[in-house]
Amino acid sequence: MACALFSMLHAQQPKDAKMDAFITQLMNRMTIDEKIGQLNLQTEGDIVTGNGGNSLSSDRIKKGMVGGMFNIKGAAKIRAIQKIAVEQSRMKIPILFGMDVIHGYETVFPIPLGLACTWDMPAIEQSARIAAIEASADGICWTFSPMVDITRDPRWGRVAEAGGEDPYLGGQIARAMVAGYQGRDNFSSNTDIMACVKHFALYGAVEAGRDYNTVDMSQFRMFNDYLYPYQAAVDAGAGSVMASFNTVNGVPSHANEWLLTDVLRKKWHFNGFTVADYGGVGELVNHGLGNIQQVSARALKAGLDVDMVSEGYLSTLKKSYQEGKVSMADINNACRRVLVAKYKLGLFADPYKYCDENRAKTAIYTPEHLAIARKTAAESFVLLKNDQHLLPLSPGKTIAVIGPLADTRSNMVGTWSVAADLTKPATVVEGLQAAAGPDTKILYARGSNLFADARMEADGTVFGRDLHRDNRSEEELSAEALKIAGKSDIIVAVMGEASEMSGESSSRTDISIPDVQESLLKELVKTGKPVVLVLFTGRPLTLAWEDGHVPAILNVWFGGSEAANAIGDVVFGKVNPSGKLVSTFPRSVGQVPLYYNYFSTGRPASDHGFEKFRSNYMDEKNAPLYPFGYGLSYTDFAYGDVKLSAPWLDAKGVVTATVDVTNTGKMDGGEVVQLYIHQRVGSTIRPVKQLKGFQRIWLRAGETKTVSFKIDEDMLKYYHADLAYAAEPGDFDVMIGTNSRDVKSAKLTLK
Ligand code: BGC
Repeated sequence: MACALFSMLHAQQPKDAKMDAFITQLMNRMTIDEKIGQLNLQTEGDIVTGNGGNSLSSDRIKKGMVGGMFNIKGAAKIRAIQKIAVEQSRMKIPILFGMDVIHGYETVFPIPLGLACTWDMPAIEQSARIAAIEASADGICWTFSPMVDITRDPRWGRVAEAGGEDPYLGGQIARAMVAGYQGRDNFSSNTDIMACVKHFALYGAVEAGRDYNTVDMSQFRMFNDYLYPYQAAVDAGAGSVMASFNTVNGVPSHANEWLLTDVLRKKWHFNGFTVADYGGVGELVNHGLGNIQQVSARALKAGLDVDMVSEGYLSTLKKSYQEGKVSMADINNACRRVLVAKYKLGLFADPYKYCDENRAKTAIYTPEHLAIARKTAAESFVLLKNDQHLLPLSPGKTIAVIGPLADTRSNMVGTWSVAADLTKPATVVEGLQAAAGPDTKILYARGSNLFADARMEADGTVFGRDLHRDNRSEEELSAEALKIAGKSDIIVAVMGEASEMSGESSSRTDISIPDVQESLLKELVKTGKPVVLVLFTGRPLTLAWEDGHVPAILNVWFGGSEAANAIGDVVFGKVNPSGKLVSTFPRSVGQVPLYYNYFSTGRPASDHGFEKFRSNYMDEKNAPLYPFGYGLSYTDFAYGDVKLSAPWLDAKGVVTATVDVTNTGKMDGGEVVQLYIHQRVGSTIRPVKQLKGFQRIWLRAGETKTVSFKIDEDMLKYYHADLAYAAEPGDFDVMIGTNSRDVKSAKLTLK
């Protein structure tokens, strides 16, 4: 009883008696086939996001065999399909229309990794809101986002789709995204769409950074570092959760009852529905869990409600029921959860709620949305290096813009922007010219292809992101570039990864700037002219040579629809960059996985280079090239000492930590002030520091602001070896600074 009451109190959303009665009546009239049909999610193949796909026939819809469809673009098209479902199927149940709306719809925002580097939660929420406004105008009521996997291995291409390496920051982002998509009023508006948190769970920890690979992790690490962002999204009311392709504790997520039921539903009180990832149920056969009938039954019983694409449920669940391998209760529970989602979205009240063709004509890719995307893109850029204030550039000069990414539209938006019109974004050359004005002369040369190897280039430019390879030799290309460099005052090298070199199934073992581009960059530096590297990437790259030789490096990720204009804004100083890294940049790939919140070892490295019998490398430092939280500005910030309102804290108390931050430079600018805490002694090993708070502030030149953080016992809790969640009395270092490396510190004691 006490337990039931607890569950009720902690249920994700309050019970709705009217809804329950409606769904019960509906289900009483449904056949087993119709119930299983609700568990079938299929794609028609408008937009390709995986292997295979389903064949759509209206016949299936009429028979009630389709519960949801995804990645179909266009309100009119969706309306026509919905019409078949609600007019010609026996039960007239509306279809759920989903899409991978990941970082914007047609107005595209920076890739999630870039978006996270803004550390600007209102801006992140707003980006999801605009995505929801646009997608919902085009018939979509469900998005497969946010992706909140913690990522610490930049070889994995999907680091581009997530918010970096830190659980606390990841949790904040998860909340902001869910609120942005779903709105804050129970889907009351036709602009509110359902979020789907993915990929549950631990997908970011695939071994060797190879996509779809095994994950094997202790529960201590899982609960302390990896699970929190998913839980934060569930707490924020996310309506659905997607299983991950990897294994957890030896069992693939799609069939993992501990994960999908014990943790998600019993521990976290999630009451939405769960969905497979693309073909994930069928892939359980490859994982070696049995044939399609066995794995489908196992997935359903584990708590996986909806089967995406593989049709294992559709083709085998009835047989499994007849053979006693799944119960009617198993099928009913899953079916009810899908119907509840449809009810909450308002699809039973109005199946065409999201099919307003007039709104589709006026609410998508609007000047207002683009203006916000431009501002957000500029905020996501991270200035990695800026010797002698080379940036910002002043107009009136001759600039050589060189590189294979300088003159492309289709590569600007980045991976997972399936609804974007790739012909619309400006190129970097156009963005720079527009920002610089007519007094600045811009000369352009490609300088090199993306890779020397045409095959590598083709693999990195799929899905319409072709760079139209130049068939001249690399020598000819670079000679042309050096010629225009010779006529210029400054060189802007626009290089790095093409859009599809990161994202799903884009793992790399070499995470440097590709071969011919790097050689070209070296040639450009040799000219002795000042070189600014505008770096495109969907992951942390190894940039030790660049850091040592290129005077200015602006990392622009993939900034979305307005990336080029935002690059112009920052390069010419209309906007002062303020993005901060959310993923550590290693010095070399041999260091990965590398992250700031590591545990101390028994044999820590010394400060004086390699030493035998210590945890270090013979040929590389332990330290990263650019630490988590790092990012420069055109101005400078000075931090005062950390002051605590009291030297100790008890279970009920709050201590305030304050620091004075001064803009000591000549330009107004934004800064992200970061709070880290370290527990000196614990019952388990403790990370050297953990992010516990941050504030984005704006300081005029010369201005000082006092920034304060409240610290209470809750912030000091963690999962112990027995998974009890509690704080331990003792001493803590409270650190505040401009990044995870450069901090000032004060001692706090928990009594
Ligand atoms: C990806 C998911 C995505 C799904 C649907 C899968 O391949 O892993 O992130 O939501 O396809 O397109």
